[in-house]
Amino acid sequence: MDYYSLNKKAKSTSFKDAVIRGLAPDKGLYFPKKISPLPKSFFETIESKSNTDIAFEAIRQFVHPEIPDNELKRIVEETLCFDFPVVELNQNISTLELFHGPTMAFKDVGARFMARCLGYFNKDNNKEVTVLVATSGDTGGAVANGFLGVKGVNVVILYPSGKVSDIQEKQLTTLGKNITALEVDGVFDDCQDMVKQAFVDEELTCKMQLTSANSINIARWLPQLFYFMFAYKALKSKYKDIVFSIPSGNFGNICAGMMAQKLGLPIKHFIAANNLNNTVTTYLATKVYEPKPSIQTISNAMDVGNPSNFIRIQEIYKNDFKKLKNNLSSYSYTDYETRQAILEIYEEFDYIADPHGAVGYLGAKAHLEIHPKAHVCFLETAHPTKFLDVVEDVVKTKVELPEQIKAVMDKKKVAAKISDYEGLKQFLLTAN
Ligand SMILES: *Cc1c(COP(=O)(O)O)cnc(C)c1O
Repeated sequence: MDYYSLNKKAKSTSFKDAVIRGLAPDKGLYFPKKISPLPKSFFETIESKSNTDIAFEAIRQFVHPEIPDNELKRIVEETLCFDFPVVELNQNISTLELFHGPTMAFKDVGARFMARCLGYFNKDNNKEVTVLVATSGDTGGAVANGFLGVKGVNVVILYPSGKVSDIQEKQLTTLGKNITALEVDGVFDDCQDMVKQAFVDEELTCKMQLTSANSINIARWLPQLFYFMFAYKALKSKYKDIVFSIPSGNFGNICAGMMAQKLGLPIKHFIAANNLNNTVTTYLATKVYEPKPSIQTISNAMDVGNPSNFIRIQEIYKNDFKKLKNNLSSYSYTDYETRQAILEIYEEFDYIADPHGAVGYLGAKAHLEIHPKAHVCFLETAHPTKFLDVVEDVVKTKVELPEQIKAVMDKKKVAAKISDYEGLKQFLLTAN
């Protein structure tokens, strides 16, 4: 499959090249040249397929022929080494639990897939690739874990100092080996800007092969369409109008859901549930897209003022505002409302949600007020213990730490501090 740059000033390129580059030379995000819907029979018989078969068939056209089928099968199997349960709270609301992977957030899926693609492309290559990634919380841990020990790949993670949870920080600063964490004096958008600047800095790019593992990278972004299909498989026999409510930050997850729909998955509608970082909510209400500095909230993985994947959504709808609005609604919630939602979910359904999932739940409820017959599945994007302080404070009960989390809590944090782009550049030039 060929990919073109959404800035339209760089040449189209192969899947392999797009994965290795991350961002196109004109700073544009890559987008597949063609999206061919899967046959209707694929969805009619989806219950009889395994998750790995679904994923293999769904992603094949996007990586063919650069990854041969037998390798792709292996990559998909290794990526999906955990469960994706759908928990029904009642007739109208369910949640898709995306936190059963090694770092307990949905980003494990994209990170594991991407690491394996890069590992495959790099197997006969002596040149090292440096993966540079900005994280608002969960990306760092998932990428660190997914890439740990992958031959020929060094990972450098930038995270905003004091703005990720303790557990998140441990997950990305304690692995060592080919993983380095840089603690940035700033907010997530500063980290993201620094990463973007590095990609277009010729002094760096002529010395080293840099790539990104944010959802701007197609190999991180596209596999996220898998679990929309898994959720459909679980819900289709019971419910007709299936809507997804997606707690959104950089809008990679929701945009992958829209790709699943493009492939023919019968999804009725999408809800982008936001915290106070509401650039898209405002856009849908006013038609004015105005990026803002990010605001710190308790759902910190969504503290994004200028969501990088929104441009891909615009491409899917060919910039047709009306079409987009027919398929996408967006709501924004305060931290107070989010806490109330965690409490409500706990008291009404005996279920403990994390702050991101709770925002998704609020989006689901808002949709049901207008469409009471719909079935809305909200994505539970991280395990509640990753946000232990908030969750325990609200539900007033102790939450048991899962094994994956216990394992990192006692390890020692190792991170270098930087405060600006020069700091990053010096680090990269001297570390390699
Ligand atoms: C990254 C993340 C999000 C936001 O996902 P996007 O694809 O950036 O919209 C939501 N919840 C959690 C827990 C996350 O880690």
